[in-house]
Amino acid sequence: MEIILAKTAGYCFGVNRALDAVDKAIEDGQVHLIHTLGPIIHNPQVIEKLEERGVKTVQGLDEIEKGTIVIRSHGVGENVIKEAEEKSLNLINATCPYVKNIQKRVKKYYDEDYQIVIIGNKDHPEVKGINGWCNNSGIIVDDKNNVPNVAKYDKICVVAQTTITNELFIAITEKMKEQHNNVAIFNTICNATKERQEETRRIAQDVDCMIIIGGYNSSNTQKLVSISKKYCNNTFHIETKKDLDMDKIKKYEKVGISAGASTPQWIIEEVINFMENQENNMENMNSTYEDTFKSFRKGSIVEGKVISASKDEIIVNVGYKTDGIIKKSEYTKDSDVDLSTIVNPQDNIEALVLNIGTDI
Ligand code: SF4
Repeated sequence: MEIILAKTAGYCFGVNRALDAVDKAIEDGQVHLIHTLGPIIHNPQVIEKLEERGVKTVQGLDEIEKGTIVIRSHGVGENVIKEAEEKSLNLINATCPYVKNIQKRVKKYYDEDYQIVIIGNKDHPEVKGINGWCNNSGIIVDDKNNVPNVAKYDKICVVAQTTITNELFIAITEKMKEQHNNVAIFNTICNATKERQEETRRIAQDVDCMIIIGGYNSSNTQKLVSISKKYCNNTFHIETKKDLDMDKIKKYEKVGISAGASTPQWIIEEVINFMENQENNMENMNSTYEDTFKSFRKGSIVEGKVISASKDEIIVNVGYKTDGIIKKSEYTKDSDVDLSTIVNPQDNIEALVLNIGTDI
């Protein structure tokens, strides 16, 4: 059996960043008072490990009187931030910068009297959070056959949940453009998602069987499963190696593996090790697995392209499965500098690899 492991499999940088924030809070000794608003990622195994380390998941701020609250990468509405501040909670806002940019855009256009349209799942926390930046007035649509009539509005601003498929985004925005000639359209699907979905599609076209690893409740993992099923009938969604039925898998010669943005590397490794132990043809499997994880080392210098720069951090595409993040303190000793004034999207940049992933 030959195994092809997607290079994009596993944590994206937004999830890494949120987990790092929780890690840092634990290291700072706030463990008995750390809460996350909703599960920090859609992966029950990781949540369980965090609970063992004293981190409590709460569903609302009414459950907390004091201590630290970590906002996960999905972000929250403006009112939740205000409420946390009013309660004088120690707020750690780990909203992914991609999502933060959508929130800022929605607020700006809402203030300019645009009707906001969000393409995504109305029940997803990221979408609820984005809607919270336009006073929950957004029209939310996730079906190309059910696009609402927006002709009655003067001007429309359309954004997307970061993890929807490009196909859905294009289908819905094309229909809106037919109805309206003043539509500001922003394709806010994040790069990490696009690359992961594209790679999953490529691999699914080329293999006999696909295994998608990730939480059963993880939206981005579910999308990978549906993309994979389009191109490969033998697609299996598993959370951990325990869900893997080797009797069904072992008959295939070429097996592809992809994983959602909330899937830790140790779960992916466990699945592959389990498959290795079940197979005689170790040589093929080892080489593909090693190739994927060997591409970066701590301490190496890498070249990348700037995706975005804010006042305090730069996001860089370094051609790895997750984007890199450079904090201001790592870029300059001058704490007054606004990084967005000296670094621009598309700039080439050299970076030193300080850390890879988070092994929670
Ligand atoms: S999937 Fe994209 S938007 Fe979502 S947390 Fe990861 S990097 Fe951020």
